[in-house]
Amino acid sequence: MKYVRHARCVRCGAIYEAVPALTTCRCGGILDIEYDYEAIRADFSPADLDGCRDYSMWRYRPFLPVEDGSPPTPLRVGWSPLYRADRLARTLGLRTLYLKDDGQNPTSSLKDRASAMAVVKAREAGADTIACSSTGNAASSLAGNAAAAGFHTYIFVPARAPKGKVAQLMIFGAAVITVDGSYEDTFALSKEAIDRWGWYNRNAAINPYLSEGKKTVTLEIMEQLHWQVPDYIALSVGDGCTIAGAWKGLKDLCAAGFIDRLPRLISVQAEGCCPLNRAIQTGEPWRPMEENTLADSIAVGVPRNADKALAAIRESRGLAVTVSDEEILDAMRLLGRTQGIFGEPAGVTGTAGIKKALELGLIDPDSTVVSVVTGNGLKDVQSGIRAAGEPMLVPPDMDALLSAFAQRRIAP
Ligand SMILES: *Cc1c(COP(=O)(O)O)cnc(C)c1O
Ligand SMILES: [Zn+2]
Repeated sequence: MKYVRHARCVRCGAIYEAVPALTTCRCGGILDIEYDYEAIRADFSPADLDGCRDYSMWRYRPFLPVEDGSPPTPLRVGWSPLYRADRLARTLGLRTLYLKDDGQNPTSSLKDRASAMAVVKAREAGADTIACSSTGNAASSLAGNAAAAGFHTYIFVPARAPKGKVAQLMIFGAAVITVDGSYEDTFALSKEAIDRWGWYNRNAAINPYLSEGKKTVTLEIMEQLHWQVPDYIALSVGDGCTIAGAWKGLKDLCAAGFIDRLPRLISVQAEGCCPLNRAIQTGEPWRPMEENTLADSIAVGVPRNADKALAAIRESRGLAVTVSDEEILDAMRLLGRTQGIFGEPAGVTGTAGIKKALELGLIDPDSTVVSVVTGNGLKDVQSGIRAAGEPMLVPPDMDALLSAFAQRRIAP
């Protein structure tokens, strides 16, 4: 870890050596990994990436807290496509929109970036078992990435996790404990079990390395945009680790001289569960909320990474936009119909927020905006059907087909 200096508590400033099994500060604050940016700047530049054939998150090793000798994870994580989304941009009335489709990761969500990091750090820590609690994607990505690397996993999920995600866990051979309670209860039980059995902890808000994995999403976006900084990057927000990681990646690039300014973040949450956005909008400390949204991956009433997420949104002079479940379903249809991308509800919430921000006049239509699609819609087929409806059903008969078409005003 040539470029890692140490970890620093975001709350009290205490400094810790960056050992592999690092968790939170004694004061309860979350740690942040700090690098020697002068050294990175001296040794490494955008031109070094031009010839790099490693099309995965590990192409950014100088920016990552892993030992030089640590092998990369077996599954290809990262380097998801960044599409220029002109058809959707036109529909929304926005000049330039890009979509980063992180549903194309090996287990179909952005969480693979954090889980791949967890696997590397668990190996460095000498562990053979990794555990986490999750609303679904952190779990399924851990189970998949860990299985490929030969680790055991214990996964605690709340009872409401969609079937697609639970199926992933079972297929990847995880020991799955479905907790009959909220995400909060699930998290608490996982913590107790981890302490008791000494497993490696893949809870993103506890383990400071995981947002370092997540930050590769913005490292990639910037490389894919040839280091031209957009005006906004929109992300859906639950615990807050993703948006905090995205911001860390941008700040790292700035500190190392790869980019010369920073975009503004758009934090998008569901109306039925938006404790972080409410804190931004009111200027008051965040308070717990109920978890009333179909976007299960961001239904987090007690966000575990509030400190880092709120700091990121504020530092970027970011926007906090809340959207209804109807607006999320609408964004699912829009992304599918204009761009051929099927996102899960939390996966498209960022895009729903861009639409809302334009409608409210919060962003200039001439802006350049990047929306991260954080998870694939096949994980939650029920919500897809809810967004788009059921197909027509006809007997095997041409007259019946004609009348079904007439009824729906379809003219082939
Ligand atoms: C986890 C997740 C998020 C939000 O990430 P946080 O770190 O919890 O804020 C958004 N979308 C999807 C699909 C996720 O799985
Ligand atoms: Zn502290």
